[in-house]
Amino acid sequence: MRLTVIGTGYLGATHAACMAELGHEVLGVDVDPDKAAALAAGQVPFHEPGLPELLAEHTASGRLRFTTSYAEAGAFGDVHFVCVGTPQRADSEGADLTYVDAAFAAIAAHAAPDALLVGKSTVPVGTAGRLAQTYDTEVAWNPEFLREGFAIEDTLRPDRLVFGVGSARAETILREVYAPVLATGTPLVTADFPTAELVKTAANAFLATKISFINAMAEVCEAAGGDVGTLAQALGHDDRIGARFLRAGVGFGGGCLPKDIRAFAHRADELGVSLGFLRDVDAINMRRRDRVVELTRELCGGAVLGARVAVLGAAFKPGSDDIRDSPALNVAARLRLDGAEVNVYDPEAMDNARKAFPLLGYAVSAEDALRGADIVLHLTEWPQFRALDPERAAALVNRPNIVDGRGVLDADRWTAAGWRFRALGRPAPRGEKA
Ligand code: NAD
Repeated sequence: MRLTVIGTGYLGATHAACMAELGHEVLGVDVDPDKAAALAAGQVPFHEPGLPELLAEHTASGRLRFTTSYAEAGAFGDVHFVCVGTPQRADSEGADLTYVDAAFAAIAAHAAPDALLVGKSTVPVGTAGRLAQTYDTEVAWNPEFLREGFAIEDTLRPDRLVFGVGSARAETILREVYAPVLATGTPLVTADFPTAELVKTAANAFLATKISFINAMAEVCEAAGGDVGTLAQALGHDDRIGARFLRAGVGFGGGCLPKDIRAFAHRADELGVSLGFLRDVDAINMRRRDRVVELTRELCGGAVLGARVAVLGAAFKPGSDDIRDSPALNVAARLRLDGAEVNVYDPEAMDNARKAFPLLGYAVSAEDALRGADIVLHLTEWPQFRALDPERAAALVNRPNIVDGRGVLDADRWTAAGWRFRALGRPAPRGEKA
């Protein structure tokens, strides 16, 4: 089939390359000429494991091309996937639909009358229905559940596909697009527009709630002297609850969960339904960043003015260079404002971090960040940070203080190597040197 993918950011570039991998002829469309040119030259402008190889293979074979021209896209494609951004609005918690509306208007003006316009962006419930009523060309919604860092795997072998369709014809076309994926037994849920849109926002709301739930338990443990690590372990053995997304830490960030739960609560209000608990989920999440700042102050003797702080991590999660709403950089910037000398290191996100936070210091390696530090903050869970040797690390720093903001470092090992070790929701280890 001949497909276009409109908006070639994290979602769209991945979707375009994966659709080519499934055997389709694909044309990616972006309003950003630099992005389109880079992708056309086989360069991925962000970090996503496996994507450069897939992109190089399919751009070289000519099966995958990129353009900025909607006229070319309309003439080329039978099915047009819209993957543009839906950021938070500047003036409210709601989603900014400017890009989605512009992309639908532009492709609808050029698409063949029997084309199918398929939204993949995460949108407030009601958007697909509104767009379907606006244009003569048929609309469908096919929400995306990929995780950055696993985007290729999640697209080619998703745990489910959701088709929001208004006709049997639209379902047939989408089944044809995803035929190789469906042939492997991937579950397909076909739904009306509102349900399909809600599957995505409900999934994100559930995951965010689970993370904030254990982080709220961390707050209680901090107040009561409990250990949230042990609590989570015991809870996770209950298969009604499950162990995943149950690790206390500095919380979630990124370009999706924070803005999606805010937009969901906002949209629910418009519909007369209160999802106020999502605002608590958001508030708990933001409070964990405050807690890391507070622990840093405590370990620095009450104030961070002049302290050298090594921040391990800048991406919002490992496996990605995405720094949108990154907890690590949020904490780093706040400590810098309080007068600390902050040195950040991240294996992949240095360029993005430097652009967004030019006033922070940047190290060339984890060891370089640690050199002379008064405190180390472990804020993005990259495997190389987990693998740091506490004894070697102790020899590099000025003072052996560490806050494990991801709850994965071995407190006993770090303490045995002479570190004052703090993790969220956990008591200070016994046997620590004062
Ligand atoms: P992004 O900001 O990385 O990419 C958006 C792209 O759209 C940019 O390249 C931009 O130049 C382009 N664009 C904007 N307006 C355009 C227009 N009118 N025509 C053509 N291109 C246009 O965003 P993203 O992270 O890829 O997210 C896109 C959507 O997918 C959002 O709704 C997001 O919530 C959703 N989503 C993202 C992920 C993820 O992991 N990133 C996962 C699932 C769903």
